[in-house]
Amino acid sequence: MYLNPNKVIEMFSFDTIINNEVVHVTCQYKRTRYLKIKLIGAKNLLLIVTKKTDLKEAQSIIDKYRDTIVKMLSKPKIELSNDDFIIFGKTYHKADYSKKEIDSMYKDAILSIEKMFYDIKEKYVFPNVELYFRKMHSRWGVCYSKEKRIGLSSYLVFVPCELIEYVILHEFCHLKHADHSKLFYAELDKYCPKHRQFKKDLKYYSSLL
Ligand SMILES: [Zn+2]
Repeated sequence: MYLNPNKVIEMFSFDTIINNEVVHVTCQYKRTRYLKIKLIGAKNLLLIVTKKTDLKEAQSIIDKYRDTIVKMLSKPKIELSNDDFIIFGKTYHKADYSKKEIDSMYKDAILSIEKMFYDIKEKYVFPNVELYFRKMHSRWGVCYSKEKRIGLSSYLVFVPCELIEYVILHEFCHLKHADHSKLFYAELDKYCPKHRQFKKDLKYYSSLL
């Protein structure tokens, strides 16, 4: 994902009921051509509007697109019980490990992702960038191409390695093309021909964010 922080204006958020469930909606104003509704995690909606909108208008947009939203909410997603934890797509039982062991498994997983990142950088001779990890709830990665900085979500530890590689390659390709233009996807095709499938597969895990 490419993000220009100057372009997004957080407006307000509210709760609404869809299919008897409380859904949290965050409304953002962005200088873009089309209205967008995105599902973030299991029950959070991001509503991106193209003009200044008040709460009443936002609610009527949600009502208008109710059927689409119901479909979005009913897409298959990973369900993780409280007794389990997940690392790189594999589920483990909490009862089999101490808290300390689980913590160190997660730390090791972050180090593995860091290694993956630098291995990919070496393999494809991508430019030097600063890498950081952050608990990001609305995206898996972000690239600040001008500052040469790539951020990865710490929650990537939940998803299978091939999907992490896809996220890393996606962000590296943003160094060359900051947007999601045809040129960007042509670039990504060179390094990750299965990126369309991987993007879909990642959605399955987005409820863990
Ligand atoms: Zn992107």
